[in-house]
Order: sequence, then C-alpha cells, then structure tokens
Amino acid sequence: MKQHSPTEHFEEFLRQGLVLSSNFSYGEFNSYQALQDAFEYWVYQFGQAMLPPQTALLCVNTDLRVINACSNRASFMDKFSQSGTSWRHADREDNPLARCLDDPRLHVMTSEEMNIWGLKPTSAVSIPVLDPQEQPVAYLGLFSQSHHIEPDGLIQLLYTLSFSFYSCVQSIEDRRRYDQLLLQNQQRELDFKKHDILFEASKKLHAKIDVDSVLTEAIECMYRVYPNIQVDLLLSQDNDSTNLSVKPLNFQSIENDICTRAFMESTVVFEPAMDGEGPSTGKVAAPLSGKQGVYGVLYMQFEHDLIQASDLQFISLLADTAGSAFENAKLYEQSNLMINELRLINEITKQLNQSLRLNEIFNSASSELLSIFGADYSCILQKDNESDKLIVQATNLPALYHETYTMDQGFAGLIYSTKEPTIISDYMSNNKVKSKLLQLTNSRSLIGSPILVNGRVEGVIMVMHSKPNFFSYDNYKLLQVLSGHIGLAMTNASLHAEVKRMVITDNLTGLYARHYLDEQANLLQKKDFCGSLIVVDIDNFKRINDTHGHQIGDKILIQVSQIIKSCIRDSDIAARWGGEELAVYLPQVAKDQTIRIAERIRSRVLQETSPQVTVSCGISDWNWEEDKISVESLFYRADMALYQAKNNGRNQIKVG
Ligand code: GH3
Ligand code: MG
Ligand code: MG
Repeated sequence: MKQHSPTEHFEEFLRQGLVLSSNFSYGEFNSYQALQDAFEYWVYQFGQAMLPPQTALLCVNTDLRVINACSNRASFMDKFSQSGTSWRHADREDNPLARCLDDPRLHVMTSEEMNIWGLKPTSAVSIPVLDPQEQPVAYLGLFSQSHHIEPDGLIQLLYTLSFSFYSCVQSIEDRRRYDQLLLQNQQRELDFKKHDILFEASKKLHAKIDVDSVLTEAIECMYRVYPNIQVDLLLSQDNDSTNLSVKPLNFQSIENDICTRAFMESTVVFEPAMDGEGPSTGKVAAPLSGKQGVYGVLYMQFEHDLIQASDLQFISLLADTAGSAFENAKLYEQSNLMINELRLINEITKQLNQSLRLNEIFNSASSELLSIFGADYSCILQKDNESDKLIVQATNLPALYHETYTMDQGFAGLIYSTKEPTIISDYMSNNKVKSKLLQLTNSRSLIGSPILVNGRVEGVIMVMHSKPNFFSYDNYKLLQVLSGHIGLAMTNASLHAEVKRMVITDNLTGLYARHYLDEQANLLQKKDFCGSLIVVDIDNFKRINDTHGHQIGDKILIQVSQIIKSCIRDSDIAARWGGEELAVYLPQVAKDQTIRIAERIRSRVLQETSPQVTVSCGISDWNWEEDKISVESLFYRADMALYQAKNNGRNQIKVG
C-alpha cells in the first residue's frame, strides 16, 4: 500500500472523503449497523473529550437521517441531532450534509452561508463515508458555533475526528469478524463432535446383535447430540422392546403426518415451526431403512434448538446406520429362530421315530407340542375309516380321551374338511365355529393343523391356550411343519404294523402263519400250567379239488377256517399248519374241554360247509404235573392221533 505523508493524506481526504478499508462489510454484514456501532463506540472511547466546546459531530445515513450525534452542548444537540431528523434540502435549508449527498466529497460552509434554524453564526464541514467501492454509506458532519474556530480549523478537526472514528469502525469490524470466526469455529467443533458421535455410534450399532439394543443405542445417540429434544422411534413391525421411546408407527394420511411421509417416501422430512428461509425449530422424521426395506421412523421434535442443514444430514446418516444395524440384528434374530426351529423339528422327529407304535407316537407328540408351544392343552385326533369319525388318540385332558367327533363338528371338522391349518387369536371375539373343545378347556387361543398323508387328511392336531393372542404366526407355521412330521411317523408306524401283521398271517385263510403258532406256543408253555393242541385235516380234500376245482377247494378251506375261528376264544391261536391242515393251540385249556371244542368244530363243518366236507381232528395236551414236553412232540402226538382218526374212517376226533 502506498505510504502517504500527513499532508498528502489530508489532501486525499479532502478530495475523496473517508474510505473504509477493504475489510469492511463482508458477508452479510450491515454497514449501517456497523457505523452506528462504531459511532457509539467512538462516543464511548473519545466522545466529548475530542470535541471542542460548542461543536457537534453528526452521522447521517444515505437518506440524510441522523444515525447518531455527539456534542458537549445540550441545546446544540437538541437542535441538530435528534435521531431520525432529516437533513435533506427539502426538509431543511441548505446545509453541508445535503451538499455532500449531491456531490460526495468534503464540503465547507461558513457561518455566513449557513442559516439553519436561526442558529447563527454557525460554520460546518461534511464528508461522505465511502465503502471500498467508494459508494457512500453515510455522511459525517461537524458543526460549530464557536467564534474561535475558522472553517480551516474545522476541517482539521473533522480530519482528526474522522481518523479516530475510522479506527473505531476498524475495531468494530475486527470485533465482528472475530465473533463470526468464533461462531464458525463453534459450528465446526460441533460438526466434529457430531462426526465423532456418529462414528462411535455406527461402531456400536454394528457391534450389536439384538434388535432392542440397536434401537436403544440409536435413541441414546440422538440424545447425546441434542439433549433438549424429544426423540421417538416408531416401528412398522410388532416389537417387544423395553425402551419406552420405541412405539408402533400408526399410518396416517401422507399430507398430515411427516412420519408416514418419511416412511413411504424413504426420505428425511423436516417440518419447520416457523415460515421462511434459514434455520428454525420444528419436527424431523428420518426413515430407518436397510437394504431390504424401511423398518420405521426416527421422529424428533426440536422445540428449542434450531435445525441447520448439517443437522438434517447428521440425522439422515444416523438413521441410515441404525436402519442397516437394525436389519442385521433382525436377520440374526430370525436365523437364530430358524436354527432353533430346525433343532426342534430334528428333536421331535427323532422322538417320534423312536417308536413304531402308533399310540406311543401320539402320546409323545402330544406332550412335545405342549412343551414346544407352552400351551395349556393339546389334542391329536385320528380319522377312523370304519366309522368315518375323528377319534381323540392323545391329549392331556383325560375327559377327552377316545372321544369321537363327526367330520362337521368344531374346529377339528373344519380343519378336516378344508385340509387347511387354522389360527384363532381369540375365541371370545370370533366364535363363528362352535367348539366343544375350546368351551370345555376355557381356551381362547388355538392353532390347528391337518395331518396330511399323501394328500389325504389322516388326522387333526390342535393346541390351545387360555390367553387370547397367545400363539404367534411363527407358531402356526411351525405346527404345520410338525404335523407333517407327525403324519410321516404315523405312516411309518402303520406300515410297520401292516408288515408285522402280514408276516404272521396266512394269506388265504386269514389265520396265523405256522411260525407264529410255534413261537406263541413256546412262549406260553413257559408261563402257563397247561394247554392243548388240535390238528384239523379236511377229509378227502384231493377229491374235492378234483371234483369242483381248486377255486372251490380254496373256498372250502376258507369256510373251515372261519368255523374254527368262531369256535375258539380270542386268546386261542388258530393257524394254517400247511396245505389243508389247520391247527389250534388253546392255552390254559385241559383235555376234556379241548375235546368238546374239537367236536364242535367237526360237527359244524359237517353242517355248514358247501359243498359238504368233513374233518378229522387229532388232539394232544400238556400240563405242569407231567414232565415238560416240547412243542414239537406236542405236534407229533396230535399228528399221530389224527392219523388214527383217518385210519378209523375219518370225520372223527382222536386224542394223542
Ligand atoms: P385224507 O382224507 O387222507 O386227508 O385225503 P386227502 O385227499 O385230503 O389228503 P392228501 O394229502 O392226499 O391230499 C391233500 C390235498 O389237498 C392235495 C392238494 O391238492 C390239496 N391242497 C393242499 N393245499 C391246498 C390249497 O391251498 N388249496 C386247494 N384247493 N387244495 C389244496
Ligand atoms: Mg386231507
Ligand atoms: Mg392233509
């Protein structure tokens, strides 16, 4: 910058006026305000001490209205310098400030020229105050009523005053700039702090694996940054959070509710409390979103703090971080649930497969279901093909055991006929279907599923609880899966029973197979006191076959078998011994009684068969008083007796 000598400076000043430094008026800074402040500051710093008696210094704006004035003479002040007084030509006679407005440079008016409100003699000087672009922002005027000061002296004085005034403007400027920097600094520090908090929070959020602590951390993070606001976390899904700030999101119309808007549009929504540009208090809703969707809304009410653009950015970032952490935690929770479910299914299948007996399977399934679902009652019904009814095969309610239900009765009937599982959250409020079962057990919640085998309903499972809304949708789905496994176990057990039956049964006659009679007779001999054996042989059977054909022969064989079956007790064992020879083992039956039974068989065969045949019977027996005889020798003796009967003319009984 060019260095001026005092005189040069003075001349420049005379020519131009007071040019403010280029530092002046930056940003949105109001120069009038600065001049006003500077004038006040000048008065405070130098003021009257610099003004000679009977002089006044005035500062007017570009409208020539007084901004401020200073004088050490009260009456002088009153006349010239009331705040707002206009110095325009139109409002006042010719004066140096008005001249300044027309021609912005130094003006001098001698006492002769001036006649302002009769305040004679008065001389005055004025200069414009120019901004760095040399546009006037205000005018300074110095008025004197003193006879001792000539206009030149007044100019000198204004020059001095201007410089002290100028330094005041400078300090006000510096002060302002300092304040502004301080504010910027504070804002930056706050931003840094927010970043730190955000960084910490995202570390913490991603370290959490349970949903509830993710939500709590997000809320707490908000409170760390904005301690004076109200934060709510509104979730669109069911949740059982213990945090009181976590609430369900109630969908309202998009126009009225910023939370619904934030959720639907997946953007941060800000509703300022005041109209207009710039920071304001208000409400902010930020979506809690992850990769797979939006889970809820972080809703904040700023009643005292102003929301800056950087705040919205921060909130948006935090909501995003919390959203993806929430999603991860939720997925983790779900996969854990799934693992548990699989473990459970595995466990129950193992349990079910441990037995091949149907009633054991039903009982174990019934008690497993109770413990899996924490239910009050469970009930498994099986379809009975003969009566076409559902029979309760397992339950923890003894009154129900072996109860039968028709196919159109209650929920079991509904599930049977629709082949669909069902869930009743409250029987009290939804009793379209009348259920004896739910009334009897005082239950309000129910889940039920059909037991499907190859697409046919083979049974129905129902699980109940006295509380309403007890079972979740997951429970309902799980029951469906479990019923599939129970159905499988039922099929296995039935197949196994069928194979077992087939193995010990003779195909043609429906009597037992020979090996079964052998095994049972051996077993019974170990615990019984006595027993007997009848061997029955159809007489001249070869001739029947030859005369009527093999098919008729088979029919005769079946007829004779049925006659034998109807002549003996359930505990007696009738078997096909081979060909047309049949045998009956009668446990705990002595010889005399056996002879009577054989006789009944013989006479009924004679009477009832068509074409008519006769049979010959050989009998043997044993009791504990004799030496134990083997089953083989028992048969041998009966066979020998039969041989005798044949030799003796057939159609008769002989005892070995
Ligand atoms: P007997 O009075 O001495 O017992 O004379 P029988 O002809 O009954 O005795 P035999 O042992 O000579 O012949 C038995 C016949 O029984 C031979 C066979 O054709 C017939 N038979 C054996 N098993 C069956 C069968 O399952 N179905 C039919 N239709 N015939 C059978
Ligand atoms: Mg025969
Ligand atoms: Mg024979």
